[in-house]
Amino acid sequence: MDTDTSQTMTVTILGSGTCVPSLKRSACAALVRVGTAQILIDSGPGTMRRLLEAGSSIFDLTHICYTHLHPDHTSELVPLIFATKYPDIGRRTKSLTICAGVGFGRFFKGLQHVYGNWIDLPPGMLQVVELDNTGPDQIQFGDFSVRTLPVEHNPDSLAFQIAANSGKTVVFSGDTDYSDNLVTLAQGADLLISESALPDDMKVNGHLTPSLAGRIATEAGVNKLVLTQFYPECEQADIRSQCRQTYAGPLVLAEDLLKFTLTAEGETG
Ligand SMILES: [Zn+2]
Repeated sequence: MDTDTSQTMTVTILGSGTCVPSLKRSACAALVRVGTAQILIDSGPGTMRRLLEAGSSIFDLTHICYTHLHPDHTSELVPLIFATKYPDIGRRTKSLTICAGVGFGRFFKGLQHVYGNWIDLPPGMLQVVELDNTGPDQIQFGDFSVRTLPVEHNPDSLAFQIAANSGKTVVFSGDTDYSDNLVTLAQGADLLISESALPDDMKVNGHLTPSLAGRIATEAGVNKLVLTQFYPECEQADIRSQCRQTYAGPLVLAEDLLKFTLTAEGETG
């Protein structure tokens, strides 16, 4: 165990895939550990199994941040809450805080309308924080802070910056097209975890390509770029070379369970 956990932040890619079923790539999710907090970023299908493989579990989570409400980013929320009732509700001893764009509360009420008390938590165990999806927003928790800006995908879409009290930062693009706000939020980030949905020649609206993600990383001056959320078409393309057309810094192509460690001295893995 770290002697000064507030100075160390780890980021584990839980799912580097998309809505397309894949044995290699689970759907979108990542885990940030900082101090006593364990923060899940999105919860696509397969997240709970990947959490176990990453040495965590649903009971360890203190926060969930949702970049937007598409099912490949949110759908494991219902089974995640339902599973906390096994063997009884007392298994969850920490409260859970969910941060998401305005509209999440209505979305969750809709889920409760369908599932009723199957997804209840005891009073005080679940807090929902709705963040502005028209401009910048931020919130400070004990071991870290969250900053968000809207990005170009859905009206509720947010990019998230998680900053440890040590000053180390990781930014998650969520799903987005090219976004000036993402450049702003990722300015000087230690890690930018960016979607890179499809190869350059298959660009679709509302998503990035390797060269566009590289352009954002260069404009933001990030210390390391991690490309993720690959549709199967990316497996047949040289996406590294495509990204290299616009970005010359440290570059990693995500795989499930890849882990990064950020210490006050620098990034160690
Ligand atoms: Zn989406």
